[in-house]
Amino acid sequence: MGFFDNIKQKITGVTGALSFDRLKEGLTKTRDSFVGRLRAVLFAGRKIDAQLLAEIEEILITSDVGVATTDKIIARLNVRVKQDNIQDAELIIDILKEEISGLVSESPSAYQDASFTVDESNKPHVIMLVGVNGVGKTTTIGKLAHNYKKAGRTVLIGAADTFRAAANEQLEIWANRAGVDIIQQKHGADPAAVAFDTLSAAKARGTDVVIIDTAGRLHNKQGLMQELEKISRVMKKIQPDAPHDIFLALDATTGQNALQQAKEFTKVAPITGIVLTKLDGTAKGGAVIAIADAMQIPVRYIGVGERIDDLQVFDASAFVAAMFEDRTHADEQPA
Ligand code: GDP
Ligand code: GDP
Ligand code: MG
Repeated sequence: MGFFDNIKQKITGVTGALSFDRLKEGLTKTRDSFVGRLRAVLFAGRKIDAQLLAEIEEILITSDVGVATTDKIIARLNVRVKQDNIQDAELIIDILKEEISGLVSESPSAYQDASFTVDESNKPHVIMLVGVNGVGKTTTIGKLAHNYKKAGRTVLIGAADTFRAAANEQLEIWANRAGVDIIQQKHGADPAAVAFDTLSAAKARGTDVVIIDTAGRLHNKQGLMQELEKISRVMKKIQPDAPHDIFLALDATTGQNALQQAKEFTKVAPITGIVLTKLDGTAKGGAVIAIADAMQIPVRYIGVGERIDDLQVFDASAFVAAMFEDRTHADEQPA
């Protein structure tokens, strides 16, 4: 990576002010609902008792944080209240933020590589996208391609969702937006054949990154597993350790359903990372906390809008800060 790329990365990277603004904007609905309701019960002078804890618990659960993760947060909160001898309910919001932040920082989602670099001695780096229909796989592929291209990588997209009629056209639009090439065959073609063609082309051209779109349907677990295995097996003929990543796209607007899908998919496919889409359109952003806490695989990226630059590398501390609208982050920005 060149010197100026490095500088640019630093400016626009995950902790950058611009990026944080977009994140905060994207999380508006979640923040209004979640923190808004918390502040309404955590007012100055209110006594801390079982009733208050029950109210906090309900807010967490109805914000899609999930029962198991909510239990953990409430238990941690209880310990802190006793340890720090907290008397005033108003102080609880900061403790909640610290504990949620701690929980996410202890999860596999805490460390993310934001550099979009590729192992030069093992190209192409192969990424597959899976997930149920409409969650945002194709959109995410366009956004990922854009990010890799911005980081100076060459990208080739493989249109292996040969199941849906309009899939090729839609993916082609995203490839054009990102300014990268796409390999496709006719609607109904063998997805493994498309993947094979894409990797062959990438190998011949010396492409850095291959991103494979899939139909990734879960209506039939056996079918999905077999299809993914077949695509992987055929790709290995060209790149023995492909695919390097299998990303599961999940629609955050579906809340607890997204967590359920994560559990189902990880049973049938070796998922390496989660992409949580549509965080901008929902008050259910709490699902991110549930998924980060419950899953043994990291949340890698989040979608905060429909534009090509609306994909962010998941940054646990920035996420919690944006959810609670942290002042220290806001203060870092130039006036
Ligand atoms: P796929 O069926 O999984 O390939 O899903 P698509 O990529 O076709 O996306 C389905 C819909 O979700 C499209 O209308 C996208 O514009 C929309 N979408 C995807 N990601 C996001 C996001 O981060 N935010 C918003 N608001 N919409 C999104
Ligand atoms: P099956 O024949 O459909 O049961 O599955 P295969 O594992 O043989 O491969 C699936 C698809 O990938 C094939 O239809 C080919 O289009 C493609 N493919 C796999 N291996 C090769 C190969 O060595 N050369 C070429 N040209 N295509 C291959
Ligand atoms: Mg699609």
